[in-house]
Amino acid sequence: MLLSETETLRQVLEVVTPTDSEQISTWKAGGRILAEEVAAGIALPRFDNSTMDGYAVRAAEAVAGARLRVTGEQPAGPDLGLTLTDRGAIRIYTGAPIPNGADAVVMQEDCELAGADIIVREPVEGGENIRVRGGDLAEGQVIARAGARLSSALLAVLASQGRETVQVYRRPRVSVLATGSELRTPDQPLAEGEIFDTNRIMLADLVERAGGIPVVFDVISDEEEAHLAAFGRATGSEVIVVAGGVSVGEKDLVKPTLQKLGCKMRLWRVAIKPGKPFLFGHLGKTLVFGLPGNPVSAFVTFLLFVRPAILRMGGVSEISLPVRRVQTGEELTNGGDRPHYLRGQITAGAFRQVGRQESHALFALSQANALVRVDARQTIASGVELEAILLVD
Ligand code: AMP
Ligand code: MG
Repeated sequence: MLLSETETLRQVLEVVTPTDSEQISTWKAGGRILAEEVAAGIALPRFDNSTMDGYAVRAAEAVAGARLRVTGEQPAGPDLGLTLTDRGAIRIYTGAPIPNGADAVVMQEDCELAGADIIVREPVEGGENIRVRGGDLAEGQVIARAGARLSSALLAVLASQGRETVQVYRRPRVSVLATGSELRTPDQPLAEGEIFDTNRIMLADLVERAGGIPVVFDVISDEEEAHLAAFGRATGSEVIVVAGGVSVGEKDLVKPTLQKLGCKMRLWRVAIKPGKPFLFGHLGKTLVFGLPGNPVSAFVTFLLFVRPAILRMGGVSEISLPVRRVQTGEELTNGGDRPHYLRGQITAGAFRQVGRQESHALFALSQANALVRVDARQTIASGVELEAILLVD
């Protein structure tokens, strides 16, 4: 019996746990996953300050036409501890602390200079042009929880707290392997019947985007010795992703050689198209994913089963693929007996298939920006609303 995608993913995630964490420089933490809860030790803004260049005043005194004596100046920087006197004004700049006794700032464009005085042209209300302490972020408020990805803006909030280092999950190391005696690399001549390897670069990039560190191996020829040697070396990483040779042909050596090395098989084959040959097991402490060699199948099975596992290992809380509600822009048919993940394009909210829906059709895949799942023996009419999986991450 072939397993469903849901059951396959459930069984994969059952044995996946987050890696340990490490303390790194906040400067290096962009895109990393937080492994601690961070709460504010410093409120934002840290003190009441001016939003404008202008004059700190008492709103009640700053009526239209009022003449106020300028008694001092408070630039952005150390608080000079100035106090506003009756019918006085203090020159102030953006970000500068509000002097004692002031409750508003008149912007400089709204007053006129008259010797040592200003004449107010536009009156202000109490609190106007003042950013209040803690108005954005209160002391003690949670900034981010473990599992959050550190965005550029979150890094800036950490900086506002004076954080020089941050605790993040370690990125899991993922060995990327490809098998096939027909596969060559650009430094080798291409004989008749041979092709360049395309899976390793695609999988390495997918690993990287999932937050893993790809460790790319040489291409493995369809010989037992080559498989045994490569798998032996790859156990140094937390995960092995091997594409090709996972099926049941005589030249498909991944499963038998893994078994020879003592790999405990947990899953074998899944009911999806493109896909089906899919292997998941344990080789010592290393998780092993065997994917079909056909590039589109390798891509889809990676997204559905390997990506969530790498994300979970990397401590990410949100591991599901991004989806978008779309309308079918044409009829979608799956005559087969497995759910089919159709490759297509969303244009103006409508999903249409692109290129050949076959597992070798790599160029067609490259033109797609979304997948739509169509159940076995199902036809979805044009104009139906459904969720498409986005291929952007
Ligand atoms: P396999 O799963 O090994 O039977 O391979 C299925 C198909 O995918 C065959 O046409 C292979 O030539 C092709 N294939 C397997 N691995 C790769 C790869 N790394 N790069 C490009 N094509 C591949
Ligand atoms: Mg092969």
